[in-house]
Amino acid sequence: MAENGQYFVAVIGGAISGSVAAEILADHGIRVAVIEQNKRPYGKIEDGLPRWHVEQRKQEYGRIDARLKKPGVYFVPSTKLGRDVDFQDFCRNWGFSAVILANGAWRDRDLGVPGAAEFVDKGLVYQNPFIYWYNHKNEKSYDGPRYETPDETLVVGGGLASIDVVKVLQLENYERAMKARGIQTDMHELEKGIPAACKAHGINPQSLGVKGCLLIYRRREADMPLAQPPDNATPEQVAKTEQVRQKMLRLARDKYLFRVQDRRLTTGLIVENGRVAGLRVAETKIEGRKAEPIPGSEKELRAPLVISSIGSVPEVLPGVAMKGEYYTFTDEDLPRYTGAERVFGVGNVVTGQGNIRVSLVHSQKVTNHLIEHYMGIGDGKRNLSGMYAPAEARAAERAKAVADGVQSLPALPPAEVAALEQRIRGLQQRAGYTSDYDSWIAKVTPPDLE
Ligand SMILES: Cc1cc2nc3c(=O)[nH]c(=O)nc-3n(C[C@H](O)[C@H](O)[C@H](O)COP(=O)(O)OP(=O)(O)OC[C@H]3O[C@@H](n4cnc5c(N)ncnc54)[C@H](O)[C@@H]3O)c2cc1C
Repeated sequence: MAENGQYFVAVIGGAISGSVAAEILADHGIRVAVIEQNKRPYGKIEDGLPRWHVEQRKQEYGRIDARLKKPGVYFVPSTKLGRDVDFQDFCRNWGFSAVILANGAWRDRDLGVPGAAEFVDKGLVYQNPFIYWYNHKNEKSYDGPRYETPDETLVVGGGLASIDVVKVLQLENYERAMKARGIQTDMHELEKGIPAACKAHGINPQSLGVKGCLLIYRRREADMPLAQPPDNATPEQVAKTEQVRQKMLRLARDKYLFRVQDRRLTTGLIVENGRVAGLRVAETKIEGRKAEPIPGSEKELRAPLVISSIGSVPEVLPGVAMKGEYYTFTDEDLPRYTGAERVFGVGNVVTGQGNIRVSLVHSQKVTNHLIEHYMGIGDGKRNLSGMYAPAEARAAERAKAVADGVQSLPALPPAEVAALEQRIRGLQQRAGYTSDYDSWIAKVTPPDLE
């Protein structure tokens, strides 16, 4: 760390974006407090990326660990901004040189039909808690909500995250059906492809009687955001992207045997005995990006469970100004929060769940290749290294701009730095973090974490 660390920045969230930002700042000789709500800092990697991505998770944990162990980084676990620390007070009165919000997007976008909020966990489930449960359900110490995975579940979505949900349901249903026939299989075997796993055990998947879950999407299959055209795409490039999307969806269906209905818009809930028993959906007419319901086309889709997977947005934090679903960030290369001085945003918290954009870091071909492997439909050995490169690069760029900006400010007097350090140590103590990063991670990692 340079000289005497006269600047102190707080980063909220310790996962990909937060840890990248912390590292860049620390490399500039700036002290950084990383405030993380959970005991472990891995964010979407641990709780959002389904647990069959064993290697990817391990690699990303290691990278996050290496960044958070840098000299000058103070890791503060189990501390939630907005619950344990007041946002306004923290940003205005604690005296940090800057605050960087890197707290991701953990709130599911509302299903958007009247009354849906009343039926959460009564036949209606949202994607974020569902995947969290799936990733942690086999740990002895897991005490969160538990979810059923009935056959013929209805999934509302269309993006990559909804394909994850559909895969979870299919893997669970086929594992159950095979076990009922005395066939021992598991998630890892089935994730490589259900027909192949069945064949390896000498069974026809159709004979198992699984009907499969149904994914509904409001636009056309060719519009599903599974691949993206380059910026300013020509009509030929758009057409090519549409073909790629359809091919990806076809491969995924072949491997995981789920059903899809496109051009279906949810218009209402079917409620029976105080539970959601399905959805009312209308067919849509597509014009450009618009999906308009066709009058008179409404139908009922009955299902034992509905899972909504239509995107993640930042959590509402007391004291944080919102514009619609998002915090009020300026629309600049370095997004600034408009409600307080020197508060910035990096990562998913700015725009919601990271779009799979073709960025400067990844060509379109590489992005498609990574997504195919992510979905489990790519050929050959799965290699997802570099998947998070665009997210990391953007967080690094923004953190560097914050570091440069901070260093042009007057340095904090040593007494203020010492006072801040003391408050941060107080938060660490309160969380039980009294030793070093490695000992902490070893202490809080469940022994049976998959
Ligand atoms: C196939 C695929 C490709 C992708 N490609 C891209 C891409 O090209 N570009 C892109 O940007 N993204 C992409 N993503 C998305 C990627 O998942 C995210 O960009 C990245 O994981 C988000 O990291 P994050 O640190 O911003 O958020 P998170 O991982 O959500 O981390 C936020 C952290 O903040 C903590 N936190 C939340 N609230 C609080 C609070 N109030 N107080 C304290 N701590 C809090 C959380 O516990 C969490 O640890 C891709 C994803 C997939 C699956």
